[in-house]
Amino acid sequence: MRAVIGLPIIDRATPWAANTNEYFSKALRVRDEYQGHPTIDTVFAPHAPYSVRDDTFKRLRTLSDELDAGICIHLQESAGEMAFSEKTHGCRPIERLESLGLLRPGLNAIHMVHLSESDLAAVQRTGLSVTVCPESNLKLGNGQAPFAQLRSSGVRLAIGTDGAASNNDQDLWAEMKLAALLSRPTPEEPPALTPWDVLAMATCGAADALNLPCIGVLAADKWADLCCLDLSAPAMQPLYDIPAQLVYSGGRDCVSDVWVAGRQLVADYKLTRLDWAPVAARAQSWATRILQEAP
Ligand SMILES: [Zn+2]
Repeated sequence: MRAVIGLPIIDRATPWAANTNEYFSKALRVRDEYQGHPTIDTVFAPHAPYSVRDDTFKRLRTLSDELDAGICIHLQESAGEMAFSEKTHGCRPIERLESLGLLRPGLNAIHMVHLSESDLAAVQRTGLSVTVCPESNLKLGNGQAPFAQLRSSGVRLAIGTDGAASNNDQDLWAEMKLAALLSRPTPEEPPALTPWDVLAMATCGAADALNLPCIGVLAADKWADLCCLDLSAPAMQPLYDIPAQLVYSGGRDCVSDVWVAGRQLVADYKLTRLDWAPVAARAQSWATRILQEAP
């Protein structure tokens, strides 16, 4: 599997860590564990501006400078977050992060539903990347990122699902279709995001946003991470316009084969390196435990 694991930092206790120091020590421990791993990377993941204090952001900035580590954060996702920031800090979340020195190319801002002209200028000026998560935003009633402005301003753009707590599936195909559909402003205008745009956001754009130059395109000196789709599948018939059909009619059920770093992980619709039954059983045992321990 190829993964970039977000190492959570939050100024409140969770089952993962009791306090800020423990978040940092656990983050560094997990980071060390995967150092040099061929397919798994890590980034620091301060949860959101409303759950992380200024001194914690400053500590994180120093640490990420020392380690040359990336950072991802949920940013400007909801109206509540914007109001809290104005009330508590007297500025927008992105302005606060800029004053703390966190806006830079190694930062991946997830969501950015609320985006003023000055926010967009800050994104362009500092070179950070943006990951949009349309299904999560829809489910939580947060609105949508302004796809047209983000696309036309040349922001480094990726697409994601958000976490399992705010989206029931991690189906990137559904996100691509939804982003393309939602990006049409009026019947008279074309969608701001073409099928090629959303395919790029899920592939080379995502690799760029995650600062993984070794993947994202099929080229010499890159890992050949790729998936193969069955264009003879019922959903793809009849075949006219492959990019449009991949986005508007395709789905994860059309993926027949997957390779990561030269290893075939899915062959003819079957997992090659995972025994599914114990994986499913482990997930179910966690569900049972969570239900039992829920307050
Ligand atoms: Zn989120």
